[in-house]
Amino acid sequence: MEVWIKYKCENCGRRFQVCEVPGDELEEPGCVECGGTDHEQLPDQLRRGDAVIMIGCGEAEEHSGKTWYCRTDEFYHGAGKYQEGIVFLEGYSGSFKTRFLQKIEE
Ligand SMILES: [Zn+2]
Repeated sequence: MEVWIKYKCENCGRRFQVCEVPGDELEEPGCVECGGTDHEQLPDQLRRGDAVIMIGCGEAEEHSGKTWYCRTDEFYHGAGKYQEGIVFLEGYSGSFKTRFLQKIEE
């Protein structure tokens, strides 16, 4: 089973995911935006029912301080380096990119 590991680039702030297949050699993941290899690892995939806040996007300013709840588990959309983690949120129409969400403890 493949495992998705999320990173945040320390150079440009871009969040990205790298697929790790057990048994395969993992290449040093580079940022999809700037190619930088300095990054911090972010927590695991979001799960249904997780509480999150929006960060680093237009909606985050609009909904500042609002807690959202995941309506689905996080899933992945797109291919290769354009792959994005996506989740649906309670009360929000359409999907939301998880790199603009931060899980919070309640
Ligand atoms: Zn970067």
